[in-house]
Amino acid sequence: MIITNNTERGNLIEAGKRLAVVLRALKAKVVPNITAEELDDLAEELIRAKGDEPCFLGYTPEGASRPYPATLCVSINDEVVHGIPNESVKVLKKGDIVGLDLGLTHNDIVVDSAITVPVGEIGQEVSLLLDATERALAKGIAAANPGKHIGDISYAIQEEIEHAGFKVIRELGGHGVGNLVHEEPFIPNFGRPGEGELLVEGMVLALEPISTAGKAAITLAADGYTFRTKDGSRSAHFEHTILIERRGARIITQ
Ligand code: MG
Ligand code: MG
Repeated sequence: MIITNNTERGNLIEAGKRLAVVLRALKAKVVPNITAEELDDLAEELIRAKGDEPCFLGYTPEGASRPYPATLCVSINDEVVHGIPNESVKVLKKGDIVGLDLGLTHNDIVVDSAITVPVGEIGQEVSLLLDATERALAKGIAAANPGKHIGDISYAIQEEIEHAGFKVIRELGGHGVGNLVHEEPFIPNFGRPGEGELLVEGMVLALEPISTAGKAAITLAADGYTFRTKDGSRSAHFEHTILIERRGARIITQ
């Protein structure tokens, strides 16, 4: 989406604030023995309590054979993204990491954000993976200036993750957002500066570095949604919706 007026801009900013509040509440609930389904139920309840709509529930992404059955994506350890929280019992254990990916629609504006959260104490390498991936998101955001290109974001993300000794997942990446859950342009987490679409003021983008501590190959589970690393290595994911403004990117979902 390209924001063209102050009403849209105000709605976008409010949508992002609301999503950030829900995601923070979910993060605080991540403790050993909570189930993915409890987090999903809470996400839906908190979104609807404010009069908004969960935008992943019932959404069929391109290439999927059925609508997504939940509000929240809960991806544990080697699950990369799109883990389904409510079709089997998934209990979080101490030492796990859990990706929480959530979107909502407020006044017709769609926003999307994700965090990866440690469950209790986690190992040092995993902790470094989370830090590097979160830093990569910050670097991608810092590169998202008008006049730059998608490739500048991609390069900044890739650099940060690979410099820390990890790998980016190449099949998945960021995207335009705002009117729909997924819009053009696709934003790879690897690339070269100056390549790809030009960034212009008003663009609304979801940046989402997705990384692994092992090999970058992934597989899709039989549920049609859950991506896992092929070698069972752990994967991290952080995402913000941003708005490109004259002086640089504004983070909408914080
Ligand atoms: Mg997301
Ligand atoms: Mg997204």
